[in-house]
Amino acid sequence: MEEKDPLVFKYEDIKAQGGLNIKLSPDIAFFADAFEKPGSLKKLDLELDFSVGGDSILLEGRVSAELELECSRCAEPLARTFADSFDEVYPDTVEYIDTREVIREAAALLAPIKVLCAESCKGRCLVCGINRNTHSCECRAGKTSSFEALKDFKPGKPGGKKKL
Ligand SMILES: [Zn+2]
Ligand SMILES: [Zn+2]
Repeated sequence: MEEKDPLVFKYEDIKAQGGLNIKLSPDIAFFADAFEKPGSLKKLDLELDFSVGGDSILLEGRVSAELELECSRCAEPLARTFADSFDEVYPDTVEYIDTREVIREAAALLAPIKVLCAESCKGRCLVCGINRNTHSCECRAGKTSSFEALKDFKPGKPGGKKKL
């Protein structure tokens, strides 16, 4: 059972082959709960490179995840791909090399704490909640609001980048 998972390898097999390089896109169901928001993981791509040492096998891996997130300012959905590498050493005392946990950890670390749809994202109106990238409103957030002061600093760029 366990050893039939595509992410579980038999130590002896890799050793006998003198290493292994494999690319795969595993079923994301197993990794979905590594993310704060279930469903944010859309696709996972892996490259696993095993090299055989004297009494251990070194795994150098690369994980790339397509995540569906929300802009931290305007809360619009956005999809981005994040990638990073990781490595792990397996001693020759193990029968199976189960890469699932190390991959799950590496994948979980890919999710950024903050992400913006665009650096220039204007966020949402604090009063009516409208998406200020696509709409404008007549709200007055109060005379002491710093947003109010900023309103006068609109760079006059007609036809500038606007998210529709
Ligand atoms: Zn945004
Ligand atoms: Zn408003």
